[in-house]
Amino acid sequence: MPSILDVQTIEKNREELFSRTNWFDSTSQLQNRVKGEDLDKYFLLTDSEKKGIAETIRLNVSATPYYLKLSDPFDPQCPIRRMIVPDSSESVLSVEESSDPLHEERLSPVRGLTHMYPNRVLLFSNHSCSVYCRHCMRGRKVSSPKERMEKEDLESAFDYIRTHSEIEDVVISGGDPLNLSNARIDWILGELSSIPHVKICRLGTRNPVTLPFRITKELCSIIESHNNDSLSVFCNTQFNHPKECTPEAKEAILRLLKSGVSVGNQSVLLKGINDSGEIMLELHKKLLEMRVRAYYLYDPELIPGSRGFRTPLQKGVEIVSYMRGKIAGMGIPQFVNDLPGGGGKITLSPNWYLGYFPDTRQHAFRSAVTGKVHFSFEPSGSEYESFYHILNEQEWEKLIADSTSR
Ligand code: SF4
Repeated sequence: MPSILDVQTIEKNREELFSRTNWFDSTSQLQNRVKGEDLDKYFLLTDSEKKGIAETIRLNVSATPYYLKLSDPFDPQCPIRRMIVPDSSESVLSVEESSDPLHEERLSPVRGLTHMYPNRVLLFSNHSCSVYCRHCMRGRKVSSPKERMEKEDLESAFDYIRTHSEIEDVVISGGDPLNLSNARIDWILGELSSIPHVKICRLGTRNPVTLPFRITKELCSIIESHNNDSLSVFCNTQFNHPKECTPEAKEAILRLLKSGVSVGNQSVLLKGINDSGEIMLELHKKLLEMRVRAYYLYDPELIPGSRGFRTPLQKGVEIVSYMRGKIAGMGIPQFVNDLPGGGGKITLSPNWYLGYFPDTRQHAFRSAVTGKVHFSFEPSGSEYESFYHILNEQEWEKLIADSTSR
């Protein structure tokens, strides 16, 4: 039990932080970000958290007052707090972990650019973010000033893109590209617009979640001015928990949508934070109300100090299985694993398909809604019968019995 004195002090410190921040001004929010050494002013820290702050092998600590206000100062299990405050698991390097599991550096022809898929590249535009999420998969670079991308670095990246006509799609990530100045964002989008073979630009930003006040009308006008016949701009953000779906976040999303940008969500599956069907369902219902479509649910990467966040692979499959039938399909993310070693993303899905019985040309499925077995026919003369999982007579009869038993 915390002492009354501790509780009062922490509440007072929070009040002071919130009142000295010019709340709706993103610059003031960034200037008042809370760093690791100050976390004990705003949270009643556990021993595990104190050790995590002192010994983390992950990225720096930082949180905007806005995001910190969503967290619980006295509950160590609060999902927002767990994304802000390191714990002792962050101090341990497991044998299977690597700082660059996706081999982004090996696949980097010029500084800051990863060319993994033939027609797409990832541009690391910025080392800085509004909040340094403890689960960040790019923690080897994010938050480190020596990873700052200078204008010349970006120019080299654009030169590479310009001379590779197969590149149609550029993901701008980081760090958070929307933590760059409006002028720099304008310049980056202008450069991409000027490359005729680049048709798509995807902005990866967590600012709608961690600093929604950064999504200003001015910023949206800049994005809108480059969202035209030659370039289509998309935005992918990362809401991980329903507590993040605030009215402020919704306003930020609506501003992006008004500028013609389609917004999708890429959650990360995080142990003890959102690893349940109920939480994910609630999150994605709220996202649809905010007009954000589900895109991915990421299996966490094998990055240093990540053991506290990782879940068994089957957990993600269970979650999307739970969601099916309870929300429109556009609210169900694809569960993806970004394969270690630079193998790219693969999707993992529940197995609703039970098999094919050639004698009757019928496929059998398990319904996500009724839980029962349902059947459909393969067209006669199909040349694809050998592709299916063939059911034997015994299995088929059991499925027929199942379908009529309830
Ligand atoms: S906002 Fe994105 S890039 Fe920045 S720390 Fe969080 S997950 Fe990493």
